[in-house]
Amino acid sequence: MTGSLVIVGTGPGDPDLMTPATRRALSGATDLVGYGPYLDRVPAGPSAQVRHASDNRVELDRARQALRLASAGRHVAVVSGGDPGVFAMASAVFEAVESGEPMWRDVDIRVEPGVTAMLAAAAEVGAPLGGDFCAVSLSDNLKSWATIERRLTAAAEGDFVIAFYNPASRARPDGIKRAFGLLGSLKAKETVVVLVRAAGTADATCIVTTLGAADTSVIDMRTLVIIGSSATRTIARPEGLPWVYTPRSEPGARS
Ligand code: SAH
Repeated sequence: MTGSLVIVGTGPGDPDLMTPATRRALSGATDLVGYGPYLDRVPAGPSAQVRHASDNRVELDRARQALRLASAGRHVAVVSGGDPGVFAMASAVFEAVESGEPMWRDVDIRVEPGVTAMLAAAAEVGAPLGGDFCAVSLSDNLKSWATIERRLTAAAEGDFVIAFYNPASRARPDGIKRAFGLLGSLKAKETVVVLVRAAGTADATCIVTTLGAADTSVIDMRTLVIIGSSATRTIARPEGLPWVYTPRSEPGARS
C-alpha cells in the first residue's frame, strides 16, 4: 500500500502567513516529520496524528524516514519553516528519492509553496526586492566558502539585490563579516542594507543602514539580510524607519 508525502512550509512565523492549502495538508496527515520548533508552529491535528520531531541536522535522514513511512502507507507531511523549497526540506526529499529505494519513486509526493523569509522581511520595510534579486545562503555546512565568495562576487558584478539566508550562527560567527568585507570592496559604501530579525512575527525588528555602517554583530540565525543594488533607495518618514524600495525601471529605460 502506498501512502503520500506532502512537503510544506509554515511561513515565517505568524500563523496568518501559513497558507490555507498548507493547513489542509497538515490536518490531513497521519504523521508529521520535521525540526521540533517548526512542528511547534503546527496547530494540533487529529488525535491519532504522530509527530516525529528531530533536531535541525541530517536533513537526508529525516527525508528517508518520511519516505519509509509514506511507502508503508502513511500520509506524511514534512514540515519546514518559510517555503519548503528555499534552503529547506523539499530538495532533501528529492535527493533521498534519487539515491534511495526504487519503491520510493512510486510515492505520491507533493510540494506546497509557502511564504519565504525574504518576502516577509522585504514587506517589513517596503519593496527592496522590486528589481532583479538573488538569494544566497551563507551557511558553509553544505558548500565551500569559495563557492559563496564566487557567487557574492557575481551578484555584486550583476548589481542584484542580494538576500542572505543563514547569515550567522554560533558555530559560524565570521562568515557574515567576510561577506560584508567582500561586498564592501565591490560595492559603494552607501549601498542600502536592511537587517530584519523575526520577520513576519510580532517580535519583528528592522534596521535600515548602509554597507559601510552596518554592525554585523547584531546579525544572528533569525535574521534575514538584504543588500541593496545601486538603485535601492530610502524614503525618510517623519517617524520611524524610512521606507526602502528598489525601482523597477532603470534611469533612461522606456516605460
Ligand atoms: N525555508 C526557510 C529558510 C530556511 S534557512 C524559508 O523559506 O524562509 C533559515 C534562515 O532563514 C534563517 O537563518 C534566517 O536567515 C531566515 N529566516 C527564517 N525565518 C525568518 C524570519 N521569520 N525572519 C528573518 N529571517 C528568517
